[in-house]
Amino acid sequence: MPTAHIDNNLNCIQGQWSAGLSTETFDVFNPASGDVLARVQLASAGDVDAAVESAAAAFVEWRRTPAQNRIQFLFKFRALLEEHADSIARICTMENGKTFAESRAEITRGIENVEVACGIPTLMQGYNLEDVASGLDEMMIRQPLGVTAAIVPFNFPAMIPLWFLPYAIACGNTFVLKPSERVPLTSRYLVELLHQTGLPNGVVNMVTGGREAVDALLQHPKVRAISFVGSTPVARHIYTEGAKYGKRVQCQGGAKNFVVVMPDADIEMSAKIISDSAFGCAGQRCLAVSGAIAVGGAGTVFTDAIAGLASNLRVGNGLEDGVQMGPVISPASRSRIEHLIGKGLDSGASAVLDGRGQGGAFLKPTILSGLEEDGELMRTEIFGPVLAIQEVATLDEAIAMISRSAYGNQASIFTASGAAARKFRYEAPCGNIGVNIGVAAPMAYFPFSGWKDSFLGVMHGQGRDGVEFYTDKKVVVERWPKEWSRKF
Ligand code: NAD
Repeated sequence: MPTAHIDNNLNCIQGQWSAGLSTETFDVFNPASGDVLARVQLASAGDVDAAVESAAAAFVEWRRTPAQNRIQFLFKFRALLEEHADSIARICTMENGKTFAESRAEITRGIENVEVACGIPTLMQGYNLEDVASGLDEMMIRQPLGVTAAIVPFNFPAMIPLWFLPYAIACGNTFVLKPSERVPLTSRYLVELLHQTGLPNGVVNMVTGGREAVDALLQHPKVRAISFVGSTPVARHIYTEGAKYGKRVQCQGGAKNFVVVMPDADIEMSAKIISDSAFGCAGQRCLAVSGAIAVGGAGTVFTDAIAGLASNLRVGNGLEDGVQMGPVISPASRSRIEHLIGKGLDSGASAVLDGRGQGGAFLKPTILSGLEEDGELMRTEIFGPVLAIQEVATLDEAIAMISRSAYGNQASIFTASGAAARKFRYEAPCGNIGVNIGVAAPMAYFPFSGWKDSFLGVMHGQGRDGVEFYTDKKVVVERWPKEWSRKF
């Protein structure tokens, strides 16, 4: 197990690691032990400018590098990610808190994006038509944008940078990664591996910072596009400011995901899957289920089944064997979640399981029932291991409850009925739908969708949307009259 060490070289500019110019610092903690792992010098506007200038200079040659050659670096990167997966996962667990198995799984999902981006010579192709008028041909070609940037959250330190980076550089852009200042060590590992592939300096840069770094990226005239994943209030800030400065922006925001349990579902199996969805990664997944809606009398049996499973989950340090749920990101986050649970109970809800009182950054799974639908806990993204169970009489009522939520990231249904599943898929207003699936995470060759307050923008991350986002379309209309050509 790696020991804690202080390391503050968390900016990579032109292939060189440094602490940066700023004197403002932020400590990176291991949420399980409280150890300080790194002291970030929060990147200043000057650090960001240096990273963007490095990316802008690298763009000149990188965009001229044939797509087939660009992806050779990604093939090597993929091999290095596989080789180093266990070490990356250990660092990810140390700074984020999730279990080693969960860290390992997110690396696999990240690698899938690298694999999809290796298809860029095909994916990036345009289209053409001869004789749009007599003797006139027309074509659409895709060209890279220039300098692109991604601002990412703490909850998937390995996977989320890879929703963007491989597509951006495979399309011929250069890139600045701004990881969450709470988990920069996993990102540093990824960028170090990229440089081991021989990727030219400046194609991928990294700055670790907070709001000042983000605002500097938003305002920098040489940044063409920004990808963001994080909470909805910050997504709104980035979307608005990005538009103000003329950037192309895609912002994946927060979530409040519901699962509907129909009376004909296999309740035991459903409870197992939903327990993983609600309490996996300590509930800190944007696709975590935080509301279960039991339909037509399924409530009691479902509640008993999931409470039995959740109460047996082993909570502890995610690097220890047998631990099934790690801490949340920080003691401050734990106390915010406990406060919300308290408010729910004060408003008349009952605790089927109450996971408060563990100390540090730890909570145990918590299940509440009888919450008022318009109460704070039902409206707020809790981002912790808390599941609220609601009971309704019909599927229509369940869909109406989901529709009233401000968010639209994911909704799932558990049922044996094809008709119920189809109705749900058709009517539920969310970008990712699960049918007998607890975490309906799109594979890398599908867009990571998300609607309403969970997404601001047009093109999503991953797959073909990623290629659309990271390229400009250029349309060429050509006429070559034979009388203008030299006769041969
Ligand atoms: P966050 O919004 O606090 O931070 C995200 C990024 O924005 C970080 O890099 C952070 O440094 C930066 N940031 C934070 N505050 C800022 C500010 N005021 N101005 C400018 N930049 C700022 O999110 P988080 O706590 O790191 O991550 C959890 C959130 O991310 C949850 O809301 C979760 O639902 C969401 N999330 C969404 C998806 C999705 O696909 N929709 C995926 C993962 C996480």
